[in-house]
Amino acid sequence: MLRALLVARFVRARWGYRFRSRRQLEAWQRRRMHAFIRRARHAPYWAGRRARDFPITDKAVLLEHFDAMNTRGVRLTEALAAAQAAERSRDFTPTVAGDLTVGLSSGTSGRRGAFLVSPRERMLWAGTVLARVLDRAAVRQLLTPWRPPVTIAFFLRAGGGLYESVASSRVRFAFFDLTEPFDGLVRRLAGAGEVTVLVGPASVLEALARASADAGIGAPRLVVSVAEVLDPESAERIEAAWGVRPRQVYQATEGMLGLPCEAGALHLAEETVRFDREWLDAERTRFVPVVTDLERRTQIIARYRLDDVVRVDPRAPERCACGRVTTVVAGIDGRADAVLRLPSSDGSRLVDVFPDVLRQALALESADFADWRVTQRGTAVHVALALEPGAKTEPAAAAARQSVDRALHALFEAAGCSAEIVHDPWTPRDPAVKVRRIVRESP
Ligand SMILES: [Zn+2]
Repeated sequence: MLRALLVARFVRARWGYRFRSRRQLEAWQRRRMHAFIRRARHAPYWAGRRARDFPITDKAVLLEHFDAMNTRGVRLTEALAAAQAAERSRDFTPTVAGDLTVGLSSGTSGRRGAFLVSPRERMLWAGTVLARVLDRAAVRQLLTPWRPPVTIAFFLRAGGGLYESVASSRVRFAFFDLTEPFDGLVRRLAGAGEVTVLVGPASVLEALARASADAGIGAPRLVVSVAEVLDPESAERIEAAWGVRPRQVYQATEGMLGLPCEAGALHLAEETVRFDREWLDAERTRFVPVVTDLERRTQIIARYRLDDVVRVDPRAPERCACGRVTTVVAGIDGRADAVLRLPSSDGSRLVDVFPDVLRQALALESADFADWRVTQRGTAVHVALALEPGAKTEPAAAAARQSVDRALHALFEAAGCSAEIVHDPWTPRDPAVKVRRIVRESP
């Protein structure tokens, strides 16, 4: 029964959901909204409310009202206890209320959120992701019984149970637990034979790509970035190592928000999620998404404000080259707190410096360093550079730091703000921790 659901969704997500125009998509979405509102009222939080009075929610609201925001009466304490027990035992099948899986949202800023997923929702998720990330050759392999099964290797911090439940004779999953020593995982992957699809956070894919020549890891056929924002630097390094352009799934614990298409674009998953946009600029190029997941029935996600910033091109054509009319994303700028907020030159206000601008400035200076991190603390901007082996002498390092200083000061000046730049030593990253190249710690 559940597997049939997966297959049906696979077919629909790959070949169906075609709309003639944006208007048709929106009309269809409105019809689905009515059904969603009826279902949402099964959760006490929304039970007595009129649709237009559904309040905007976010992680803090969810944590406060968790018990009333799901339709199965699961309490937050139960969900967190199950998830923590699973994480301690490294047995990633935490369940509550019999069959609900618990996902934890990352705790990079404050408390961790918990999300409940039912088996039905899991199957729909798997069907959709497979339909949208596999290329034509992989689908042919999947459908040809005498050929070897499609192998999908997942590098994740938790959640293996989620994927094993959809394994079959045609799809094999290999799960690599990122809390284990990375060298061991690299060896295991090298010995795992041919991998059709390699899935993991961008920073981990990048680390694997870097290690692949020495470790003898063959290029996977498809590379899919999940869980972290795939920034252009990482995408380029992965493509250089394997000759495969990584595809991106924009996925948060809160839901599956964006999927790649055959034309190489990233589309908002408007077939299943309604996006309200809180615009950050008059030109309408950046917005904070407020999402309503039209599909989830267990934990209701209604008008939930994410702390990401989504970039779009207001001049993009209504229809992508792949034929879809769902919105094409130009970029996702991680969490909203990755926007630096610096005092204006006259000290009268705070000025936003957006991550894509910062990235571009650093990319232009990056001949001497392989990686970088920028952290705002107070009004100081801390920069850490991972110098290339050739730039490790002190004069070379000093020159690299100076060129970064010049670039950043020029950028801040252009934006109308100023900041003290402090250089910190580079610390290698821990693959088990979510990577954020740009962080604003305060104010
Ligand atoms: Zn497309």
